[in-house]
Amino acid sequence: MDPLKALADAERKPYWLDSPAKPEPLPRLFGNTTAGLAVVGGGFSGLWTALMAKERDPSLDVVLLEGKKIGWAASGRNGGFAMATLTHGIANGLERWPEEIALLEHMGLTNLDELGETVARYGIDCGYERTGELHVATEPWQLAEMHQSVEVARELGVRFDVLDQDQVRAEVNSPTYVGGHWERDGCAMLDPARLAWGLRQACLSLGVRVHERTPVRHMRDAGTHMELLTPHGTVRAQKVALGTGVFQPLLRRLRHFLVPVYDYALMTEPLSREQLASVGWHNRQGVGDSANQFHYYRLTSDNRILWGGYDAVYYNGGRIKPEYEQRDETFVKLAEHFFTTFPQLSGLRFTHRWGGVIDTCSRFSAFYGTAHGGRLAYAAGYTGMGVGATRFGANVMLDLLGGEPTERTGLRMVREKPLPFPPEPVRSAGIQMTRWSIAQADLHQGRRNLWLRTLDKMGLGFDS
Ligand SMILES: Cc1cc2nc3c(=O)[nH]c(=O)nc-3n(C[C@H](O)[C@H](O)[C@H](O)COP(=O)(O)OP(=O)(O)OC[C@H]3O[C@@H](n4cnc5c(N)ncnc54)[C@H](O)[C@@H]3O)c2cc1C
Repeated sequence: MDPLKALADAERKPYWLDSPAKPEPLPRLFGNTTAGLAVVGGGFSGLWTALMAKERDPSLDVVLLEGKKIGWAASGRNGGFAMATLTHGIANGLERWPEEIALLEHMGLTNLDELGETVARYGIDCGYERTGELHVATEPWQLAEMHQSVEVARELGVRFDVLDQDQVRAEVNSPTYVGGHWERDGCAMLDPARLAWGLRQACLSLGVRVHERTPVRHMRDAGTHMELLTPHGTVRAQKVALGTGVFQPLLRRLRHFLVPVYDYALMTEPLSREQLASVGWHNRQGVGDSANQFHYYRLTSDNRILWGGYDAVYYNGGRIKPEYEQRDETFVKLAEHFFTTFPQLSGLRFTHRWGGVIDTCSRFSAFYGTAHGGRLAYAAGYTGMGVGATRFGANVMLDLLGGEPTERTGLRMVREKPLPFPPEPVRSAGIQMTRWSIAQADLHQGRRNLWLRTLDKMGLGFDS
């Protein structure tokens, strides 16, 4: 199938946000106000923080300020894989926090259970399905690496089913698969934009004041409280939680730890019954392949296929620009890979193509902290795995603002910061070298060159 033909009619916007369920934006903030807690950012991070702050203390006066619209950024345009992992996978967590990994896995599963319970409790219609994730290998060397992590996972009590070539193809039928495993509990599929809009509604129902199109331009420590300055009003808040993702941080120190990395995705038209039968996919798992440059893909409730990943693009200089959300070179590559994976779907067309920016940090999993004498908390750096983990991060921020030690705030993962990225232009040079090396590793049976091995030793990395 000619990828250009398949892409010809694809709209240049995120599929999930292009929905009749999209709510009208809530009013801007006009005038001055006060709050017990001001949450900045209306992605998952901010929404979970505002919601759970109210659940913890219904009398707390909470205001949420979103610069554009709720869920417009990464939260409303991602793959919709809500993962249990808090550490960007077991292998990364084991490498960094071996003594905590069992607890972290347990906390991650509990977090995902509670996420599902919240979705049910507030009746959020976001197509939530706890189908797990199928990790597929397309080369024998990936299989060997996969088996190692399965062993570790099993020792930690995580439910992994190892599948040989026939078994994995019986789940999802692609001639490219050589084997895989099914992580049954570790992942749920959902419609991320509908989750964000549903969380907005849940916040409103508990009395959170939500203002959209209200960017916080400056933040000031006024001694007894914080002041947040927006274009048409000011919030005097006792406490502040920052859920601003990768965008220009209000706290300067965060800029050393975060780089914007663009990730891209395609959505197909709905599959016919015959097309779906040709792929199987009865158990509707999310699927990820196991190269360093990996694809992720899944079914939607109306049986489209979302197909994303592979290219993780850092634009030199580290700017965030709307035009970076479209990259034809990547879309063509993704379409080619799609038809290599599913040749039986030749003729299928894509309806949407889009990209989004990811808050990447050098340890691949979120970091947390406080500032201004404990009046402000932040969580950022989810590195492409924040759909589930932002809920955990929101709980960490609320614990930190509460000031009392908790099991979460005692974690080394929470207390430690990632290594900062070097300043530009070394930053761009280093990241492009890393991207090139990762692509080379995939071409050479996963063998990591000296550059990657050195970064591994330093605990530094680059991922989406
Ligand atoms: C294409 C793509 C695919 C992905 N797929 C997955 C996936 O399948 N599974 C997964 O777990 N993760 C995935 N991710 C990552 C996931 O989407 C993010 O980790 C998560 O959404 C981060 O949420 P957030 O609230 O921290 O950030 P964001 O969603 O970026 O929200 C931050 C918000 O803060 C607002 N803001 C920033 N500064 C200010 C300010 N000064 N004043 C007011 N508002 C401000 C912004 O406008 C924005 O709305 C993907 C990301 C992308 C881009």
